[in-house]
Amino acid sequence: MKKSGDQPPQTASFDPFAAWREQMVVEQIARRGVRDTRILRAMSRLPRHRFVEDSLQLAAYEDRPLSIGFGQTISQPFMVAKVTELAAPGPTDRALEIGAGCGYQTALLSELCAEVYAVEVIPQLARQAMLILDELDCDNVTMDSFDGSGGWARHAPFDVIIVSAGAPQIPALLLSQLADGGRLVIPVGAGDHQELTCIRHKGDEYETVKDTRCRYVDLVGRYGVGTTPPQA
Ligand code: SAH
Repeated sequence: MKKSGDQPPQTASFDPFAAWREQMVVEQIARRGVRDTRILRAMSRLPRHRFVEDSLQLAAYEDRPLSIGFGQTISQPFMVAKVTELAAPGPTDRALEIGAGCGYQTALLSELCAEVYAVEVIPQLARQAMLILDELDCDNVTMDSFDGSGGWARHAPFDVIIVSAGAPQIPALLLSQLADGGRLVIPVGAGDHQELTCIRHKGDEYETVKDTRCRYVDLVGRYGVGTTPPQA
């Protein structure tokens, strides 16, 4: 098992992190049941270490979330893979991520979808994420900083909506921004009792499937944690 203080294995001379990335995909993600080859391939390519501060780069492929400052985290790699598999992004899809943080999940969606819209409520994080996304040529991403708990109606409908923060309940406005056939993946519940929930819009119906337990930072804002329920 690698430790953060180790040097990366030297199997890929042009990218010293490639072997760790491959190990992450095989041992933490594929072995735990994520099978979608587009997702596995994209995560094998995406330089996760570029999304964390320099002092954490050697820990970027470990099996855990890491701090990105402002009390927020970059999610555990397995959770990013799991969420993405549940959202089932297709090459012609339009996706929305709420809670982009450092931009790692956004970059993965950029690789897997046609267009990506991303919202991050902390302006400094949104700015930093956009810098990295530009450096990585993720030119199908539109990012902005505001309270995204009610989605981004101006760019709806979306085939995929991923909420990367835990909500007390499913914001109805997000459901209304799902295209027919679209999928919303959102951690729902308070504190230690969140469940990753996938809602699929089919005609007049919304089919809800609960997946694994999870622990995300809170979704703040109008439809987030600690606010009174919105008026209809
Ligand atoms: N997507 C990141 C995880 C970021 S952590 C990854 O790839 O690892 C969740 C982020 O959600 C935090 O940066 C937090 O600031 C943001 N957030 C919380 N409530 C929000 C809201 N109402 N609108 C937009 N972003 C929000």
